This record gives sequence, structure tokens and C-alpha cells, in this order.
Amino acid sequence: MQQLVIASNNQHKIGEIAQIVGDIALLSLNDIGFKDDIAEPFRTFEENALAKASVIHQFSGKNVFADDSGICVNALGGEPGVDSAHYSGERDDEKNLQKVLTKLEGHDNRSAFYKAVICLVWNDQVYYFEGVCEGKIINEKRGGGGFGYDPIFIPDGYDQTFAELSPAVKNEISHRGKAVRKMLEWLGRLPGEG
Ligand code: IMP
Repeated sequence: MQQLVIASNNQHKIGEIAQIVGDIALLSLNDIGFKDDIAEPFRTFEENALAKASVIHQFSGKNVFADDSGICVNALGGEPGVDSAHYSGERDDEKNLQKVLTKLEGHDNRSAFYKAVICLVWNDQVYYFEGVCEGKIINEKRGGGGFGYDPIFIPDGYDQTFAELSPAVKNEISHRGKAVRKMLEWLGRLPGEG
């Protein structure tokens, strides 16, 4: 079976991606014995994804991909963006989400989008795949699924939040699902293609 390392310890991300990759063996950082934190110091998703993928490619010598992602709120000039994981100053989903709600108080424009950029290092070459999911931020949390900002994000064309929609529906329309499927298509490995 083909192996691909995912340069992440985020179990939510890994779980979502594992649902899509079919018969590719996904190896986590734990699986390859990588224990350190990887710095993400840059101001674009692309640069941070490349930083993560490069560190793990150098460590393992294996084919690897990294997902750098976040939510961009238009009325906040694109914040939290690359700072999504620690917007409140802490890596705390609840505090991060509350900061968005507080900063959006009084704003009519609630539009936002999730973005995911995958950097794939495949046979020593670097490739990028991007996915975007447009939607809006509601006033209070709804639903118990998903992670991060999902309880306050309703994708366009739906009336439930990402935390209320099933994992399968989220994967069908999400930023990450789109980016992962583009990568699988490039690899010739969309589920069902053998
Ligand atoms: P990264 O690990 O630097 O890519 O940070 C990603 C952060 O963006 C997460 O910690 C969440 O705060 C947010 N995020 C990205 N994708 C999602 C999603 O699908 N649902 C909810 N939050 C997300």
C-alpha cells in the first residue's frame, strides 16, 4: 500500500483526511516518531504548509504533505487567517471562537471563508493544492461536531453549522475536503480509481 506522511498531530484534521484518502496508508507524526513542535512563523498558508512539509520530509525521507488552514472573516480584514489556531493568544478553540464573535459584534457583514493549503512533497518535488469554503459566521455556537470555529460557521447553501452537519457532508464541501481531493486526483488516487 502507498504510504504518505501527514505532517500534523491534529487528530481532527487527520480524522477528516483519513476518511477521504481511501487505500493510501496515512502515517501521522507519531507513527514516524517525530516528537517536536514544528514552527509556523509565516504570514501565508502556503509558506507555513511548506515549512511543515519540509521539516518532516527532511526528518523521514518519505513522501509527505502538510495542511495549513484557517478561517478568514471579511469584516475583520481576513482575521484570524493564519493565526486561527491561536487567535486569542492561546491554542484554545473556545477562546479563539469567542474572540471572533466579540470582534464581529455590531458588524452586518458576517461573511467568512475557510481556506486550506496542502503542500505535498512527492519524490522530492513540491506541489500545492488549495480548497476554499465560503459561508457566514452566526451569533452563537450551534452543534457538537467538528472542531475549531465549526460551531459558528454556516457554509453557503446550508442552514446548519459545520458542527451540526455530518462529518461526511462537511468533508464533501469543506476547504480541506476540496484540497485533499485535488491532491488525490493529481496522484491518480481518487477513491474508486484503484
Ligand atoms: P494550523 O494547524 O496552523 O493549520 O491551524 C488550523 C486552525 O484553523 C485550527 O486550529 C482551527 O482553529 C482552524 N481550522 C482549520 N480548519 C478548520 C475546520 O475545518 N474547522 C474548524 N476550524 C478549522
